[in-house]
Amino acid sequence: MMNKLPISTFIFFGFCLNIFLIIFLSDSNNIVNLALRLSAVAGIIWLIYFYFKYLRIEVENKHYVSLDVRDESINFDISAKNQFLDLINLTFTFIKEINIEFESAIYFIDPDSNNYKLNDSTSNNFNSVLLADSILISKIINENDVNILYQKDNPVEWVNLFQDESFKGSECVIMQKLLFNNFPAGLIIVRSNHFSDINTKDQLLIKHLSEIISLSIKDLDILEKTINRGKDQSRIFDLLMQINLTHSESEILNKFRNLIHYFFKYDCLTISRLDNQSNNAVIKLIDGVKKNLPDMKAFNINGTINGLPYIKKCLINSSSDKYNLFRYSSSEIDTDINNNFLSAPIFIDEKLWGGITIESFDNQRFNEHDEKLMLLIVNAIQTSMFWYIEYQNMYENAIKDGLTGLLNHKTFMDRSREEIERARRFQHNLVFLMYDLDKFKRINDTLGHPYGDYVIKTTAKIIKDNVRSIDLVARYGGEEFAVVLVNTNTEAALTVAERIVENIADYNFIMEENEVNMTISSGLSEYPNDSDQLKDLIRFADEGLYNTKENGGNSVTIYHSMNK
Ligand code: GH3
Ligand code: MG
Ligand code: MG
Repeated sequence: MMNKLPISTFIFFGFCLNIFLIIFLSDSNNIVNLALRLSAVAGIIWLIYFYFKYLRIEVENKHYVSLDVRDESINFDISAKNQFLDLINLTFTFIKEINIEFESAIYFIDPDSNNYKLNDSTSNNFNSVLLADSILISKIINENDVNILYQKDNPVEWVNLFQDESFKGSECVIMQKLLFNNFPAGLIIVRSNHFSDINTKDQLLIKHLSEIISLSIKDLDILEKTINRGKDQSRIFDLLMQINLTHSESEILNKFRNLIHYFFKYDCLTISRLDNQSNNAVIKLIDGVKKNLPDMKAFNINGTINGLPYIKKCLINSSSDKYNLFRYSSSEIDTDINNNFLSAPIFIDEKLWGGITIESFDNQRFNEHDEKLMLLIVNAIQTSMFWYIEYQNMYENAIKDGLTGLLNHKTFMDRSREEIERARRFQHNLVFLMYDLDKFKRINDTLGHPYGDYVIKTTAKIIKDNVRSIDLVARYGGEEFAVVLVNTNTEAALTVAERIVENIADYNFIMEENEVNMTISSGLSEYPNDSDQLKDLIRFADEGLYNTKENGGNSVTIYHSMNK
């Protein structure tokens, strides 16, 4: 497909790749930077969209990009193809987020030869064609698990994958097939120059990404087959295009409101989300006549029109006189509304997530065309929310420590720098606290590593519970924690710091009938009185901490009152 595009396309992709590299080669990873990089990625995605939409690049047989898989065929029209390109770009972005050094490529099956042709990649290293009957490719196609291949163990296969001829021997690749209707339609390949970089979590993430792509190929195919009117179709694709994964859930749903408003004449639109702990759903978006709105926007899914999609788990086109139900609650006063409604459940990752209902208060019934459109829109919501949730998980993983859920070391450093900058601007004080559990090693040695993990996790929670939500709490190292109390001076901070020490000492750690008491040591430094440099503030708090340890632990030392 790539080699049929005009040269300008290559220049354009070169440009995009360039920006990608600029964005991802900077190693600073704080939130502002991340946001900047993500908005730049969004910009690139938009540019690609703009390029195809307005310059009307014609690919292959004018309007269609074909991807034939044996007897199945996926025909994406140009806007669907843009959508798909976006998805691939997003995937590459995700992979770069996992590790900036990773290079990735996507291949699709070529129906004429049955071999796999390069569709897109983040580097020029990948070969343009992979032979389907090679031992390696057949293995990937026939296995469901993620495949990892090490260059040093597989020099012959390696040459088939890559163009470059000089290897260090430490390279490896992760490979995963992409499915369409259970046929292997393509491959995703991620290359790392250091095999130690690829851990189990990354492997799972890449497997997951390939599943998203497989799922989305199906989604696009359904969209293609269901709706043929160009204008309506492009409305939906345009909307999917505008979904920015850095937006909030409600911003994404609001975009859908505009779309639904365009397609339907309704008096009220409700999108709700299931609360898994109860039989309630919570209204996430409401538009139109806000009669009988329930308290706290929560309603019981039993006995209500808005609860029907959760109960029936399918599209319902009906009217309230048939079901004789209240809209949201049995305590509704205004019961003389006779409404026709169209309702559908929203499934995300095969789990019931929410429901959508549009109501019309006149006698006009919704027709078959409306039903089709509704299913289509629900499909688009499902796809967008799935991508959104995946993105959020990824983002959380990137900034937080897996065991405790606290900020990880790197994020703590970035955020602390931002807090110092803010304190400088507003002339506030900041207090840095370092904590280290006393004689922790004996826990691992006597009760085992899982018990040690439990102690670290519980300590993290105690620290977190003792500070405000605006303060920073991080897992600084193994059993070390760092805290920044914002807009606080030493005197006020000491109370907090000592309370944490006392709470740890008072806590009965108990797991599998093993009971243990722990103590923790702390050191305290203050911005700007001790220093205005992050490095020094941490070092000083650390010195305070070690002073505490020398004096037997279980206490707090203020750096500037130490005998130096
Ligand atoms: P001190 O009172 O001087 O702080 O002694 P200590 O034993 O607490 O300190 P040391 O730094 O020698 O030991 C820390 C231990 O924490 C070593 C390491 O094996 C363990 N550790 C680090 N990370 C983890 C983790 O994630 N889980 C568990 N269970 N142990 C960890
Ligand atoms: Mg310790
Ligand atoms: Mg330690």
